[in-house]
Amino acid sequence: MASDLVIVYHRQPYEEVEEDGRIVLKENSSPNGIVPTLKSYFGSVDHGAWVAWKLAEDPSDPGFEQVIEIDDAYGKYSVSRLPLSADQVREFYHVTSKEAFWPILHSFKERYNYDPVDWPNFREVNWAFAEAAAAEASQGALVWVHDYNLWLVPGYLRKLRPDVRIAFFHHTPFPSADTFNVLPWRKEIVQSLLACDDVGFHVPRYAANFVSVARSLFDVGGVERVAVPDKWIAEGTALTERAMPQALSYGGRRVNISVTPVGVDVDFIERQAEAPEAAQKARDIREDLGDARLILSVGRTDYTKGGIEQLSSFERVLEANPELIGKVRLMHVSVSANRNMTAYESIQNEIEQTAGRINGRFGTLDWQPITLISRAIPFTELVSLYRAADVAWITPLADGMNLVCKEFVAARVDGDGVLVLSEFAGAAVELGGAVLTNPFSNRSMDSSILSALRMETSERRGRMARLRKAVHANSVRCWTPGTLRPGVRAPAA
Ligand code: UDP
Repeated sequence: MASDLVIVYHRQPYEEVEEDGRIVLKENSSPNGIVPTLKSYFGSVDHGAWVAWKLAEDPSDPGFEQVIEIDDAYGKYSVSRLPLSADQVREFYHVTSKEAFWPILHSFKERYNYDPVDWPNFREVNWAFAEAAAAEASQGALVWVHDYNLWLVPGYLRKLRPDVRIAFFHHTPFPSADTFNVLPWRKEIVQSLLACDDVGFHVPRYAANFVSVARSLFDVGGVERVAVPDKWIAEGTALTERAMPQALSYGGRRVNISVTPVGVDVDFIERQAEAPEAAQKARDIREDLGDARLILSVGRTDYTKGGIEQLSSFERVLEANPELIGKVRLMHVSVSANRNMTAYESIQNEIEQTAGRINGRFGTLDWQPITLISRAIPFTELVSLYRAADVAWITPLADGMNLVCKEFVAARVDGDGVLVLSEFAGAAVELGGAVLTNPFSNRSMDSSILSALRMETSERRGRMARLRKAVHANSVRCWTPGTLRPGVRAPAA
C-alpha cells in the first residue's frame, strides 16, 4: 500500500529478538532514541512506510519477506527491509561513513581515511534505499531521509520520483567548506542534498556551513537569511550565530534550510525520575558515596566525545587541589558502540589506561577517584544516576546535539545539579544556563569543573531553572521535518 510518509533511516524501527527459537519484533528498549519519535509521525497519515537495511547472506535471495506490514500503537505502516550483505554493510556504514565522513563532519581532518572507501558500493547501497523509498511513496508523499550515510538518496529519489517532497535531516554537525571539501565526492553529495525540498540541521551554525559549502561548489543563489531567535543565542558559545539561512535557490528550485534542534521526551523522563524506584536508587547511590561529591560523565567511546581530554583534566584538578582527594568521584560511562572498529578500540584502551593511572596515583584503600563503566547502562538506571549526581560533565570536542545533557536536565525534577557543557556541543546554543567550557583548553576545562563543584546553592538552582525552561520549551514531541508537514500532500505534478 502506497504511503504518504516514508521514513528512510538505516536502522529498523524495532528490535528483532529471538524467543523460543523464532524471531519476534519488539519495541526498542530505549524509548528515548530517535526511532519512537519518527514512528509517532505515522499517526498523522493514513499509512506510513519505513525503509531500513537487514542483513542477508545472499541479498538476491534473502530468505525473508522484504516488505512487512505493521499495525501497532504508532499506526499502520510498512517496513521495507533492504537485504544487504555483511560486506555491503561494512563498506557503506563502517568504512565509508565512519572512516571518511564521520571525521570530516566533526572537523577531524587528520583522522579522515580515504584509502579503504569503496565509492561504487556506497552509491549502490544509496540507490537501493532510494528505489525502496520510491516503491513505497504515494503520489506527492513526503520522504524524510536521515543522516549522512544516506547522502545520495535525495538525488536518486528525485530522478525516480519527481513528484515526491524530500526532506533530509543531519544528526551530526555540518563543517565549514574548508573541512567539508576534503571529501573528493563533495559535489556529488551536495548536488544530491540540493535535490531536497528541505535540508535540516540541529543548530544555525551547521545550516550556515552547509550554505557556504553549497556556494563553494555550485552557482547557488537567492540565499534568504533571518535573525537567529534569542533562545538560540548563548553568549560566549563557540557555536553561536546571529543570522541563519532559511532557503536558497538552485537550478530553478527553492530549497528550504531548516534549523530544528532535536529535544528529549521531557514528560517521559520526568515520570521516570519521579518514580519511587528511581528516587530510592538515587538515594542508595548517594549513601554509598558518603560525603563525596559525584561527577557524572556519559557518552559513547568516540574520539569526538573528548573522554581522554576530560580524564586528563580530572587528573590535573586532583593534582592541584589535594583537598578534593577522597571528596569527589568521577563516574565515567564510556560505551563502545562499535567494538569492531579499530579507531574506537584504541580509544577505549587509552581511556582504560588513563583511568587506571589516575586511580593508581590518587586512590586509597577505601576510595577510587574514577569509576569507569564501559557497558551500556539501561535508561532507567541512567535516570537515577542523573538524579544522584552533583555535576554532569559533558565535554565533547564536537557533537551534533548531545542528548545526554538534555536528559540530565529533564531528570533534575529537584531543580538542583550543575551541568558543565562543552561549547562545541550543539545543545550549548540552547543551554546557556550551563557552565560552558572549551574542551581544547586545559585552563577552561579545569576551572569550569572546579567552579561547578564550588558553586553556591542559589546559583546552582538559578542555572538549573534556566536549563529546565530551555529543555521544556523544546521537547522532542515538537520536532518536525523542517517546513514540511507529513499529513499534507504536494499538489499533483
Ligand atoms: N545512553 C544509554 N546508556 C548509556 C549511555 C548512553 O542509554 O550507558 C543513551 C543516552 O541516554 C542517550 C544516548 O545514549 O539517549 C546518547 O545520545 P547522545 O545524543 O548524547 O550521543 P550520540 O551517542 O548519539 O552521539
